[in-house]
Formats: sequence, structure tokens, C-alpha cells
Amino acid sequence: MTRVFVFLEAHDSQLKKGSLELLNAAKNSGREVTAALLGIGVKTLVIQAAQAGAARVFVSDSPELQNYNPQIYADTLVGMIKESGADVVLASSSVLARDLFPRVATHMDSGLASDCTELQLTVSGVSARRPFYAGKCSAEVEFVHSPVAFILMRPNQLPVGAVDGAKTAESKDFAAAAASGKIKSGAAIKGTSDRTDLTEANIIVSGGRGMQNAESFKILEPLASALGATVGASRAVADAGWVPHSMQVGQTGKTVAPSLYIACGISGAIQHLAGMSGSKVIVGINKDADAPIFQKATYGIVGDLFTLVPLLTEEFKKALHR
Ligand SMILES: Cc1cc2nc3c(=O)[nH]c(=O)nc-3n(C[C@H](O)[C@H](O)[C@H](O)COP(=O)(O)OP(=O)(O)OC[C@H]3O[C@@H](n4cnc5c(N)ncnc54)[C@H](O)[C@@H]3O)c2cc1C
Repeated sequence: MTRVFVFLEAHDSQLKKGSLELLNAAKNSGREVTAALLGIGVKTLVIQAAQAGAARVFVSDSPELQNYNPQIYADTLVGMIKESGADVVLASSSVLARDLFPRVATHMDSGLASDCTELQLTVSGVSARRPFYAGKCSAEVEFVHSPVAFILMRPNQLPVGAVDGAKTAESKDFAAAAASGKIKSGAAIKGTSDRTDLTEANIIVSGGRGMQNAESFKILEPLASALGATVGASRAVADAGWVPHSMQVGQTGKTVAPSLYIACGISGAIQHLAGMSGSKVIVGINKDADAPIFQKATYGIVGDLFTLVPLLTEEFKKALHR
């Protein structure tokens, strides 16, 4: 049987949605699924991985893996992938994976397609689609003369499968690779927001220069709370210092693909669209009826955001009982 290897990521003792999407795609391909968990305290996630579709779970649960060190992670993963016998490796196109997998693919003399939006995985083949030129076009990627096909998928592109509570998986422990000493990781500093990371969020409320200043940007928080959303921003806002750059969506910020993206006071420059045009439903709120955001928006509301955002917040609170 052909094999597929899935790199899993977790947050607060739960597998991330992007990882669950990949396990489901792997399970449905008809291949044997090996999943990998690296970190500290990750052994408890083996059951979740099994119930989501993994037949085997390779675990490296070690203090050396507590803080991300690209060299230790890459060397540990290469050992796991070789042992799995898989010729396809899937991971979410997260910040960590985009740093890690070019190293792993290079070690294995193989090709890598990152930030993919479509995946065709069968027992006998694999291909993926990825956007180019800020989303103006996309290309079908096939792997030629590549011992392993490495594919990093954008989260929220594939369905999550049903959990099979009766399923178990064979698990195997791996020691963390030795540190070369060339890279040393310090302590990880936790962000201040408790909200879901932008790249994983199902709903995003974003603000642009139309929010006027850092203080009035805060009116997006109650709207986001009412919707259970994460707050994002345009680069103009991040550059102005109203919010941290970690909240920036776009070509030089984060790429997001939520079910719902509400753009408040964002004009819709091509560099912003590059990061959010994969959203399923886009709502633009702008006082300029000719703003380019309306060409991409599923629904457009022309008006003053300082009137509209509080109104929408109240209506969503009532409708969703928050
Ligand atoms: C190489 C490069 C990379 C870039 N990368 C990114 C990126 O990753 N992300 C990104 O966002 N940008 C990026 N940019 C910048 C991009 O070109 C735009 O300058 C930026 O997106 C504009 O941000 P904005 O829409 O918030 O501001 P503006 O373009 O100034 O738009 C503000 C909008 O708010 C509306 N408005 C004002 N007041 C109100 C009100 N009261 N109610 C309702 N609407 C109101 C206005 O009508 C206007 O449409 C990049 C640029 C370059 C050159």
C-alpha cells in the first residue's frame, strides 16, 4: 500500500483544524496514513490523531522540542519520514511549517509546494494547486524526479472528517535529534490575544486606515467578540503602529481563508486582496462606493463604518445571544 505522512500541529492540547483537514484528506486517499507529533506533552494527542484518520503516529515528545528549533525539528522529522516509507508529506502552510519544510525537503532532495489551495491525493498520485502573482493566477503543481512530494496546504481549504471514536493507532516513540549547536532557541513568548490565530480563523473582522486611529480601531473588538472572530488589519494600519504586524493580512502579511471576512475601512489594494481573496464570503464596509474592495466582496455596505460597526455588533449580539 502507498503511504502518506502528515505533520500535525496543536494548540491548547487540541489538534489544529488545518491538521484535521489534512488527516481527513490523507484517510480518504486510500493510502496508509502516518502522522507525526513533535513537541512536549504531545503524546496525549495520539488518540485524537487516530480518531481523525491516522493508522500510525510517530511521536517525539521531548524537552528539546518545547521551543521550535529548525535544525532539531528538521533532523527529527527527516528520520521519521524515512522510516514511514511515505512518498507524500502533508503539512499546514503555517508560519512554523513554512520555515521548517524547505529544510526537510532539501535534506531529502525533494520538491516542495507551499501555500497550496487545492489537493488531489489518490493511492497512486498527487498534485496541488497554488496561487501566484498575489493570487492573479494559479498553477497546478506536479512532482517530477522528487523522491518525496512535500505539500503545505493553506488551512480552511479542505473539509474536516467525522471523528471515529472507536479508532486507535499504533504509536512509535522517536528521540529528538541531537542539537548541532548552530542554532539555539530561546523561550517562546506567548502573544497577548486569546483569539484563534488569523491563519486558522473561521471568521475575521479586519480594519484599515478608515478606522482613523489606534483608539477607534478598538471598536472592532466587540464586533469580533460577538461573532467569535479574530481581528486583522491592513498594512497601512500595522505600519502606522495602531496594531502589531502580526495582525497584518496580505501579500507581506498573513494569508487567510476564513468562511467570513469583514473588511472595515479597507480600500482593497491588490496586496491586501492577495492575502484574503480565498475567503468564502467577503463583506466590505466602505464609505466610498467605488472602493476596489467591492469588486471582490460578496456583500458590500456603503456607509460610515463608525455608524455601521456598532449597529452590526448589536444585531449579531442579539442574533447569536452573546
Ligand atoms: C510591496 C508591497 C506589499 C504590500 N503588502 C501589503 C499587505 O500585506 N497588506 C496590506 O493590507 N497592504 C499591503 N500593501 C499596501 C497596499 O498597497 C495598501 O497601501 C494598503 O492595503 C492600504 O490599506 P488600507 O486599505 O487600510 O488604506 P487605504 O487604501 O487608505 O483605504 C482606506 C479606506 O477606508 C475608507 N474609509 C475611510 N473612512 C471611512 C469611514 N468612516 N467609513 C467607511 N470607510 C471609510 C476609504 O474610503 C478607503 O477606501 C503593500 C504594498 C506594497 C507596495
